[in-house]
Parts: sequence; C-alpha cells; structure tokens
Amino acid sequence: MLVLKNCKFVPFLTEGVDFETGDVFVENGRIEKILPAGSEYPADANVFNLAGKTLLPGLIDLHVHLFYEVMSDIFVGNSAPQPTTTLNAFRYAEELLNDGYTTIRDVGDLHCRAALYVKKMIESGKVDGPRITTSGPIISSNWTNLDSLDIYACGSDGFRDAVRKNFANGSDFIKLYGSGSLLLPSNEPGYPILESDEIEAACLVAKRNSSYVSVHAHGPTAIDMCVKAGVHTIEHASMITEDTLKYIDDNNLDTALVYTMFAIDEVLEEPESYNGQRMNALIDWIKSSLLNAYHNHKNILIGWGTDVGLNLYKTDPMREFRLRKEMLEMSNEDILKQATINSAKIIYQDDKIGSIKEGKFADFVVVDGDPVEDLSVMYRIPEHVIKGGKIIR
Ligand SMILES: [Zn+2]
Repeated sequence: MLVLKNCKFVPFLTEGVDFETGDVFVENGRIEKILPAGSEYPADANVFNLAGKTLLPGLIDLHVHLFYEVMSDIFVGNSAPQPTTTLNAFRYAEELLNDGYTTIRDVGDLHCRAALYVKKMIESGKVDGPRITTSGPIISSNWTNLDSLDIYACGSDGFRDAVRKNFANGSDFIKLYGSGSLLLPSNEPGYPILESDEIEAACLVAKRNSSYVSVHAHGPTAIDMCVKAGVHTIEHASMITEDTLKYIDDNNLDTALVYTMFAIDEVLEEPESYNGQRMNALIDWIKSSLLNAYHNHKNILIGWGTDVGLNLYKTDPMREFRLRKEMLEMSNEDILKQATINSAKIIYQDDKIGSIKEGKFADFVVVDGDPVEDLSVMYRIPEHVIKGGKIIR
C-alpha cells in the first residue's frame, strides 16, 4: 500500500471529501480511501509525505500525435522506418508522462500504428508511459494530399469501410480530417473537404462500435456540417460560429471542443513565414470564436489539446496552461478542469480518471503552491508524477 500523507486538495478536483488536507491510501493502482490528515496507516505501507503540497489528478492531453517529432513530419508524412517511428513515439509518450500527463489521446497515427504499439507495451507493463487512447490513421478525402498519413475514402460506403477497418486494426475511436489545414500551404482552412453523408456514415459505424468520431475542423461550414452529422469532438474548432454553438445547446448534444493553443501560438511566432502570415490574418477571428464558445456556452465542454511535435513540446511543456491564461484569459478553475476532469468526461473515462476520488486510478501530479490562486504554478512541470500508484518521479 502507498500512503500519500498531508496532501492539500483542490476542492473541485477532489470528490467525496469535505476536508482540504488529507491522506490518500492507494492499493492495486487505485485510490482505496481518502481520510483526514494524520490517520492511522499500516506499518508496512510505503509512505510519501507531501507536507502540504497540492495533489492534483493526473493531466490529460486529448490532442497529441506521438509519431510527430518535428513540424515537417506533418507536411510530408513520416517516411522513417517503423522501428524508428515507434521509438520516437515512445520517447514522446515517456516525456509526456514525466511531465504529468498520465492519460493522452493520439488523434492521428501513421499507417504503421506506432501509437498503438506504444500503448500495448505500456499496458503490458513492460515500459512506463501514459494511458493511451488512439485513433489510428486519420480518415480523409484525397483532398488533403497527405497519403503518407491519411487513409483516403470516398462516399458513405467508402467511409463505412474505412471506419470498420480502423476499428478492426485496433483503433479506440475514429479521427476524420474535415477541413483544410492551417499549416499546409496548399490547403484552405475554411474549406470543408468531406460531405455530410460521409461524416454521418463514419459516426453511425463508430456508434455501433460503442465509440465516437473526432474531427479536425477549422472553418465554420466544415464545423457546422460535422456537428450536425454527429461528430463528438471538434478538434481546434477555430472558427466555430454562434449558430453552430446554439445548435449544440438547443439539441443538448454532447459535442465537445478540443482547443490547441500551443500549435496556434507557435505559428504566430513566425510572422515572416507563409503560415505565420495566414495565422496572423485569422487570429482575431479564431480568438473571438473560441472566446464566444467559452463565455457564452458553458454547457459545452472544452478539452485540452497541444498538437505540437516532440522537439517543440520539450521547449516549454506546460505552455498550454500559460496560453489559455494569457491569450484567452480563462479562469484558473476552468483551465484546471479542462486539463483534468473535463477532458476525462469528453473521452467518457471520468469514472476512472480526471479527479481524485475513491475507486479511481491513482494518477496524480504534485505541485508546490496553490494553482487555483496562482496558475503560474502550472507553467513548470510538476514536482512529482504518480501513475496507477507508481511514483514515476
Ligand atoms: Zn493534430
């Protein structure tokens, strides 16, 4: 048994307790009980005294591509051999866990399914890494011209076929490419590149498989079409309109939006490049759309995403926290929920992860300070990371 003593809790991320400092008892990878500080514990327990530092649930990143090492991988696909790609994916997974991401969602793998193999190695206990849920390769139309990355399909039959094949090959959910890209110079981010019958077919097959569809979508028409066709998570959601948000609310849909500010900000940092110029021209539109969804549609969950390659991620691993605070001026409470419980709800795993509660996985980060009062505590990597009761560092 592991006992985490003298933990300071964040009330809205800790369920079933009415005290602010307590001891967390962990057995078989799960939280067995949470008692007030100073409770008795078995003599043979492994005791870790947090001495009043804050215990948060493990962080969750819903928009990662583990194969993605440098920006050019996205443009040209990754032609590295499968072993190299899989090792790179493993390095990224290891880094994410070390920084406190105990669960991640891979939203677009290569054809060789590097993320899936990394996931299997982690689940078998042979290596440490985050809990992973993976889409496999992205299904798209041939419009993206990314055949080294995407699976092309055409028409509702083609999409049904491709979705079934992805599930048969181990995908946990389905990722579609639903609009042009902001990064590919040949692409127009506003263009929808799928048709409604194709998206609907994908959503229906995913539902039959007790799963869901996530979609890359920037432009307003593409986003609206995807929402109405039944897509569950809109990735980036850059130019989502008030009409689409109202449609989600009026119809009580559980559509969620996964913001990816790290990737957006990085492109803005290169004002001389073609992408930087394009992003600069669109950023006010993007920011006002994301802010409207945040301020005026509180029932729509906003998830945590980053969407950058490993090399860039390593330069400032917690940058997403700073950007949500500084660029979008979100509240500390909302930002902390987005990185934990709200992202857990979005992937239907809030019975296991996302908050500190008896019965949930013992996935935690420990930070020195109170992130509710001062979010800058989260701008550096946590002091300690624990996954499934194992102290990672
Ligand atoms: Zn992405």
